[in-house]
Amino acid sequence: MSSISALEQRYHQLQSAIQDTAARYGQPIPQLLAVTKKQPAEKIATLYQCGHRDFAESYLQEALQKQATLTNADINWHFIGPIQSNKTRDIAAHFQWVHSVDRLKIAQRLSQQRPTEAAPLQICVQVNIDTSSTKSGVSPEEATTLCAAISTLPNLRLRGLMCIPEPQATLSLQRAPFAALKALHHTIRASLPAPCAADFDTLSMGMSSDYQAAIAESATLIRVGTALLGARQT
Ligand SMILES: *Cc1c(COP(=O)(O)O)cnc(C)c1O
Repeated sequence: MSSISALEQRYHQLQSAIQDTAARYGQPIPQLLAVTKKQPAEKIATLYQCGHRDFAESYLQEALQKQATLTNADINWHFIGPIQSNKTRDIAAHFQWVHSVDRLKIAQRLSQQRPTEAAPLQICVQVNIDTSSTKSGVSPEEATTLCAAISTLPNLRLRGLMCIPEPQATLSLQRAPFAALKALHHTIRASLPAPCAADFDTLSMGMSSDYQAAIAESATLIRVGTALLGARQT
């Protein structure tokens, strides 16, 4: 029981820290995505009891197993991990959002494989904003072309951009790549046709160690794992 109430407490503390940070920088309060990869389904159930509905997973098989035990129809599942072509059918069928699209081929498959009775799949394009060698994502130059192509695909709704910058030691160093993603988002939105531009409202940026910097640069959605749920199982 004590670990459950500890999680509830951390959840409420994190929500107030997010609100305080937004107020400090004069920014809107972003949506919190609970990153539950390598965390047991019980923790998802606990956060659900607290009223939380948006959960993110990185590994498809693990996510499908947890989804089978958590049948609440109003959970929004977000896929945030690297995507291989052979995984797109299950992702298209079992998630509401995909944040990690970085190839047109993957977007085309998600579009074709999204069940016709389902709402459009919400898509973010992952950008390698600080062009680090280790992370996936398109270059900022490629992002505009990829977004234009995705915006024409049926069964998808292009919502915005996502990034995972390299860790940085100070808040101001952390802010730089988030500011760059925000500027790129602005440019791409201006290039999209009006109905698509209206949908393109999401900046998915900021994790446990840098969400405050992301909020300072007007993140609309932050993805927090460790700071909420504790260390992941290995
Ligand atoms: C794991 C992960 C997170 C959460 O990381 P924490 O540092 O535990 O908050 C956020 N986004 C992505 C894409 C991840 O893979």
